[in-house]
Amino acid sequence: MKVYKFGGTSVGNVQRMKNIYNIIRGEEQIMVVLSAMSGTTNALVEIGQLTLTGNKKEAYESLQVMQKQYVETARQLLEDDEAACQHLKELFTGIEPVIARAPEPHTEAAIVAVGEKLSTYLFHRFLEKQHLSSALLDATQIIRLDAQGEPDVQDIRARLEAELPKHGQASVLVIQGFICSDSSGNISNLGRGGSDYSASLFAAALQSEEVQIWTDIDGVQNNDPRHIENTRPVRQLLFDEAAELAYFGAKILHPACVLPAQKSNIPVLLKNTLHPEDAGTLISKDSTGNGFKAVAARDNITAIRIKSSRMLLAYGFLRKVFEVFEKYKTPIDMITTSEVAVSLTIDDTRHLKEILEDLQPYGKVTVDHNKTMVGIVGNLNAEETGLAQQLFSALSDIPIRMISYGASQYNFSILINTEDKIRTLQALNNNLFD
Ligand code: ASP
Ligand code: MG
Repeated sequence: MKVYKFGGTSVGNVQRMKNIYNIIRGEEQIMVVLSAMSGTTNALVEIGQLTLTGNKKEAYESLQVMQKQYVETARQLLEDDEAACQHLKELFTGIEPVIARAPEPHTEAAIVAVGEKLSTYLFHRFLEKQHLSSALLDATQIIRLDAQGEPDVQDIRARLEAELPKHGQASVLVIQGFICSDSSGNISNLGRGGSDYSASLFAAALQSEEVQIWTDIDGVQNNDPRHIENTRPVRQLLFDEAAELAYFGAKILHPACVLPAQKSNIPVLLKNTLHPEDAGTLISKDSTGNGFKAVAARDNITAIRIKSSRMLLAYGFLRKVFEVFEKYKTPIDMITTSEVAVSLTIDDTRHLKEILEDLQPYGKVTVDHNKTMVGIVGNLNAEETGLAQQLFSALSDIPIRMISYGASQYNFSILINTEDKIRTLQALNNNLFD
């Protein structure tokens, strides 16, 4: 069974939902994973914040506004289906006691979850109206996080196996992306943008032949279209290449999405609902040639350098440094070392002050803010000569703070000043792809 995931813009209005129906109508038996309609999750997060900060009146008011919009959408999509409007209203009234109660750890998640419940209900009902047999599943009953807060593919499989026989006749299984329950059964979610991850988890659990992620861009581009003209689509990527690019925020798919598909060797096809005829990008295990495939940049990077002669020929130094970051649950992204210094980057600076304090005993610590990390991704085989030369001649005019290659053969990272970002992306474009 194939899994199709449609993002917020792909379900963003009545016409878009109808487009999805046209995309899936010929399929035999599929699972359709939906995000909330675009804008909804942001609005619900705000309602959650109003609730948590005690502004309940404003929270109810925003909820009312949203309810009106959804009822209107339902009227357009489902042509005055009173039962459907009633059900939508119930989804909204279901949030009221959550707002009324004193804030609990799950208050925000419970409010936010309504976004995906609304979109999936509308779409499911629409399919029924088109006489396409559809079943609406509840993702909070299918994805249950473990005690560490992680989803477990085996457990998802077991829950789907118990659930699917109840819907044997349905040719489309509609389910929410993003939402799940925690290990105690409370409503939770996989983090913003998490529906890609849900889709990949469902596909792994179902041992699907393919998972399709439908968004509003033509798959992966070889450079950032916001800054560079004439970017071109990358038609095929290895899982490892896609994972590297996703981290750099190439706005294609959630970074966690690649792993479940990769582990189960399920190809991921990225497609555009606005141009369904475009071939998109296929991510799979099959090698698709060598060399540079795409570049992407990530801003707001902070670089930290720890310089200490005690590092010379000493062991255990890096462990002590890493432990500081572990203590503050701050991921390190890029790292370079010399005999007497180590430089590393983070993008979560919430605990920067404490981290810097704790690093003091290990050497002289300096910090650079507002850096940009540029990832150059491809199959950059270490046995091949000339790749570094090509890269460095492209970068001949760019001041570079850090360089990293060799951890994986799929990525070359450099750290630059953010003000040099666009000309760096342009120089790479001219020299690597033209
Ligand atoms: N609706 C959620 C969000 O906006 C999840 C998703 O779209 O993937 O983050
Ligand atoms: Mg998304």
